[in-house]
Amino acid sequence: MGRPFNFAAGPSMLPESVLKSVSEAVIDYEGHGYSILEMMHRKPPFEAILLELKSRVKMLLAVPDDFEILFCPGGGKMQFAMVPLNLVTQGCRGGYVVTGTWSRMASEECRRVSRETTLWAGNNRELPRNVIRVPRDVEYVYFCDNETVDGTEFTSLPAVDDNDVLFVSDMSSNFMSRPIDWTRYAAIWAGVQKNFGTAGLACVIVRRDQLGCASETVPQMLDWSVYARNNSLQNTPPVLQFYTAMLMARWVDEQGGVEEMDRRAKARSKLLYDTIDGMGDFYVSRIAPEARSRMNVVFTLADESLLPVFVREAEATGLTNLAGHRSVGGLRASLYNVMPMEGVERLVDFMRDFAGRHGCQN
Ligand code: PMP
Repeated sequence: MGRPFNFAAGPSMLPESVLKSVSEAVIDYEGHGYSILEMMHRKPPFEAILLELKSRVKMLLAVPDDFEILFCPGGGKMQFAMVPLNLVTQGCRGGYVVTGTWSRMASEECRRVSRETTLWAGNNRELPRNVIRVPRDVEYVYFCDNETVDGTEFTSLPAVDDNDVLFVSDMSSNFMSRPIDWTRYAAIWAGVQKNFGTAGLACVIVRRDQLGCASETVPQMLDWSVYARNNSLQNTPPVLQFYTAMLMARWVDEQGGVEEMDRRAKARSKLLYDTIDGMGDFYVSRIAPEARSRMNVVFTLADESLLPVFVREAEATGLTNLAGHRSVGGLRASLYNVMPMEGVERLVDFMRDFAGRHGCQN
């Protein structure tokens, strides 16, 4: 049957060219006679990987010179603690816009390690519509750009009544899928296992003047400025993850950059949302139309008793991992950068066929 179209929320599909390069590098890294898994991180071959990774991220996202690009082990959730530990100073609080599962978790973690205030919280299916009031002691406004579980995505910064406050954004599930306007950011970060590699590594891009605020009691491995000082090599790095992310940066560049990733993401998600909306009420999206994610299309069937049949039959035709997150139920099709249009076309064909077989007239 060939490789399935994998609609998982992450880890997700990688290009076959990247998988091939990784598999060759595991046996013999570029003719050096040793595996990438055996590679010393303080020798020129790894230094070249890191240099290329950082410079491609800088180029692809047009990262300004006053921002530092860091790579931290520990994946996405580690940043839930690192953000407040690095940015909340004495007497201040982190301000959180809670639009779904991941921003809620981040706000809860902030409360564990520091001081938090929830600036806005909704029903996980919508985004704030009105201007959010930001109290004076709020050090940053945190939001999750794309809520992977719930299927909402911002198209611009949340509107706030403070023109000077800086934003922090979790871009784990839409990193490298569109350009970023850096003007109002203190930092953005992303676990890389969706659009940009494999699990266990986060890319943090932080404005340099925001570094150095962590208190002396913050462990070194949680202090962004330690990563900045050590070129992200303060301990033995997961070399394979760095290498895979570097190959993904090359791939995004070859494909036409983040503008092209955005164009493709809009085309993929439009086809799927149009299909959901165009088939009577057989398929149901409960997400406010202006809040719908390009990356994670969350929907369900009007007759939820058919969900296991849908998932099983889709799986059998090579459309895998379509079950919704366990906390939400229903269905979720994750359409990250590597998902080809053909995968979405196959999915909508399947959806039309499935609906027809179960009594939908459209
Ligand atoms: N933030 C978002 C938006 C995510 O989707 C995820 C993982 N799905 C995380 C954070 C947590 O990432 P990790 O599993 O690497 O800790």
